[in-house]
Amino acid sequence: MNIIKKEKVLCPLCFEEHEVSDVIVRDNQIYKEVNVTFDAIYHYCSIMDDYFEDEDLLAQNDEAMKKAYFMLNQQN
Ligand SMILES: [Zn+2]
Repeated sequence: MNIIKKEKVLCPLCFEEHEVSDVIVRDNQIYKEVNVTFDAIYHYCSIMDDYFEDEDLLAQNDEAMKKAYFMLNQQN
């Protein structure tokens, strides 16, 4: 797990104020019937041991996924 940032916030997963890490995670998503692998960024709650994304990350990850899809198409 690649941690890029840590910030103390009110965590929406466990509803406690604690340090939430931003992590880079290898993610897979099916886009236009193609399995796309890309680096996504998620917030990580160590209390629930779970990942979550807000709207900013959602948009950012969506863009990263589409960029990876575009790169795949370039190679074929
Ligand atoms: Zn939490």
